Amino acid sequence: PLPTVAIIGRPNVGKSTLFNRLVGKRLALVDDQPGVTRDRREGEANLLGLEFRIFDTAGYEDEDAATLPGRMRQQTEAAVQDADVALFLVDARAGVTPLDEEIARWLRSTDRPIILVANKAEGRAGETGVIEAMALGFGEPVQLSAEHGEGMADLFEALLPHV
Ligand code: GDP
Ligand code: MG
Repeated sequence: PLPTVAIIGRPNVGKSTLFNRLVGKRLALVDDQPGVTRDRREGEANLLGLEFRIFDTAGYEDEDAATLPGRMRQQTEAAVQDADVALFLVDARAGVTPLDEEIARWLRSTDRPIILVANKAEGRAGETGVIEAMALGFGEPVQLSAEHGEGMADLFEALLPHV
């Protein structure tokens, strides 16, 4: 069986954009319906020849603000636990937010490898966010632009020891 990679992070950091770039048309399952067991998209990824199964943790558009943090935590922890390695995305342009810091706290106790990724890092607009991300406790982030396809070789190198 192929190794498995989970993409996690708060809404709007570019998880689905990265998923779509890695999977292309090799989508195994699409289900954007909200619901505890139906909130992952799964596909077969190919990154510069490296093959793995990838899971996108889906949106929370219909969520009530009061229950969102709990459900996000449950979904994030379950996705990480089920994967060989997780990509923790932050938005380099927006910088680190309180929710990113909270997710980092949830992840601190996991035994799974976590690769921190500073997405939206095309151009120089992401520099401050990259520096802020170093304080999350997962080392230096891989700088990526999921939308423009920049940094994919660095992502490959970061994933290689784990998949
Ligand atoms: P998700 O909620 O984490 O799945 O985020 P999405 O993949 O839906 O992306 C949220 C927004 O960020 C969309 O408008 C994307 O076009 C945009 N986005 C994603 N990746 C990048 C990137 O590398 N650079 C920039 N500038 N925007 C991006
Ligand atoms: Mg998404």
